[in-house]
Amino acid sequence: MSRPLRVAIVGGGVTGLALAHALEKTLAGVPSEVCLLEASPRLGGNVHTHIHNGFVADAGPDSWVATKPHATALAKELGLEDELIGTIPDNRRVYIAWGGKLHALPEGLVLGIPTEIGPMLGTELFSWDAKLRMALDLLVPPRSMSSGDDESIAAFVGRRLGEDVADRLVGPLLSGIFAGDAADLSIRATFPQLVEAEQKHGSLVRAMRAQLRERASKSGERGGAPSMFLSLKRGMSDFVTTLAHRLRDAVVVTDAPVTRVEALPEGDPRGRWALTVTHGDARFADVVVGTTPAYAFAGPVRAVDPALADALAALTYVSTATVFLGFKKRDVAHALDATGFIVPRSMRRPMLASTWVSSKWEHRAPSGHVLVRVFFGGAEGERVLERDDAELAELARTELGAFVGVSGRTAFTKVFRFDKKSPQPLVGHLGRVARIKERLALHPGLHYCGNGFDGSGIPDCVKQAEALARVIGDRGAP
Ligand SMILES: Cc1cc2nc3c(=O)[nH]c(=O)nc-3n(C[C@H](O)[C@H](O)[C@H](O)COP(=O)(O)OP(=O)(O)OC[C@H]3O[C@@H](n4cnc5c(N)ncnc54)[C@H](O)[C@@H]3O)c2cc1C
Repeated sequence: MSRPLRVAIVGGGVTGLALAHALEKTLAGVPSEVCLLEASPRLGGNVHTHIHNGFVADAGPDSWVATKPHATALAKELGLEDELIGTIPDNRRVYIAWGGKLHALPEGLVLGIPTEIGPMLGTELFSWDAKLRMALDLLVPPRSMSSGDDESIAAFVGRRLGEDVADRLVGPLLSGIFAGDAADLSIRATFPQLVEAEQKHGSLVRAMRAQLRERASKSGERGGAPSMFLSLKRGMSDFVTTLAHRLRDAVVVTDAPVTRVEALPEGDPRGRWALTVTHGDARFADVVVGTTPAYAFAGPVRAVDPALADALAALTYVSTATVFLGFKKRDVAHALDATGFIVPRSMRRPMLASTWVSSKWEHRAPSGHVLVRVFFGGAEGERVLERDDAELAELARTELGAFVGVSGRTAFTKVFRFDKKSPQPLVGHLGRVARIKERLALHPGLHYCGNGFDGSGIPDCVKQAEALARVIGDRGAP
C-alpha cells in the first residue's frame, strides 16, 4: 500500500482513547493515520468528573480495581503515578442495609466470601441455619462444569454457600458492580476466578483463604493491606484528559456520531471501509474499531453484516443514575465510617447503593462537609429513572436519610444519568461474545472491543484496547 494505513476508532471513552494511545506505539514506524470519532461533544464516555465549590463528583466510575494491572500501568505510563490515591484506610468497610438498618459486613470477606469463622458467627445478618449452610461450602463437592456450561451468580453462590448468603451478601456485592440482577448475570463472564476457585479448591472459603495468604506474601507491604481500588486525586477525568492530551498524531473529532460503516470494493484506493458521520464528511479507513456500547455499533455495521449487527444488539445494557448530595458534616447523624452501603434487591427499596464519597477518598468535599452518592436504576430498577432530576434528588435524600439520618440544607446536589450504559453479561454471555467474534473474523479490518465485551470495568477496557492495538500493529507492520 503506497499510502498510510488508516485506522478509524468509533467512540472516545476509555477504550477508544486507550486504543488510540496504544496504536501510537504499536504502529510506530508504520506510516499510519489514526482517527477517533466521538459522538458527543466530550471525550471520556462514562468517565466524567464534575467539580463545584470544592465538591469533586465522579459521575460514573470513581476508581478501578487495583488487582487488575492494566489501568494502573497505563496511569503510571501517562505520568499520573503521583496522582494515584487509594481508599482511606480507616474507612475500608462496607455496610449492608438489612431489616431497616445498616450492618457492617463481617470482616475477612474476599469478594463477599468469608475466610474467617469468628466474624461470620457474630453477624446479625444471618440466622444460625444460614450460618451452618454457609459452612457446608467446605464439604459440598464441586459441580463438574464443562467449558460451555454457565450459571447465574445467584445459582452458583447459592449452591456453594446457601440462598441467604447469595441473596443478602455475596449476590448484592458481586452483581452491584454491574447494576445487575444476580439471578441473571453469568458467573463465568463476571467472576470466572470463582468458577476456577471451586474447581481447584473444591470450596470457595478455602480458595479465598488461599488467595488472601498469597496476596499477603506477595505484597509484603507494611501498615496493612493495600487499597483494593485506585483513583486520582483530582478525579477520574484526569485519566481520560491526560490520555487525550498525550496523543501525538491521532486526529480526534468530537460531535461526530458514526451512523454507517460500509465495505468498499476490493482494491479501492481509499481503503476497505467508508464511514458516514452525521453532519460530517465521509471517512475512509483500512481498519475500523467499534468501542461504543455494542448496540451503538450494531446500527452502523448492519449494512456490512446483518448477523453481526444482530449479535451485537443481543448484548443487554441497563440504565442507571447517580445522585450526589453534599451536606455540612454536622447535618449527617451517621459517622459515615465506611465506603458506603449496599441495598439487597430483596429489600425492595428504590435505591441500589450509596457511596460515602468523602469517606472513601481524600480531596472530595470542602472542609466541614461530606459528599455522598446514591445509585438508582439497574436491572429491574429502571422505572425509578422516569422521575425528573429534582424528584430523583429528593428521593435520594429521603432514601439516604432513612439509613444515615440527614437534616439541614443540602449544600450540593447533582444528578447524572447513564442511559443504557451498564452492560449485563447475562448467563450465556461468553457464547454471545464468541458469536460476535466469529462474525467479525469474516470481515478483515473490522473489530469491536470495549466495556462488557471481554470483561467490564476500566482495567478490562484498557486491556482489550492494548491487545487489539497489538493485533492491528502486527498486521499493519510492513
Ligand atoms: C455509573 C457507572 C459507574 C461505574 N463505575 C465503575 C468503577 O467504579 N470502576 C470501573 O472500573 N468501571 C466502572 N464503570 C464502568 C466503566 O464506566 C466502563 O468500564 C468504561 O468507562 C467504559 O469505557 P468505554 O470506552 O468502553 O465505553 P463508554 O464509556 O460507554 O464510551 C463509549 C463512547 O462511544 C461514544 N459513542 C456511542 N455511539 C457512537 C457513535 N455512533 N459514533 C461515535 N461515538 C459513539 C459515546 O458517546 C461514548 O463516549 C461504571 C459505569 C457506570 C455507568
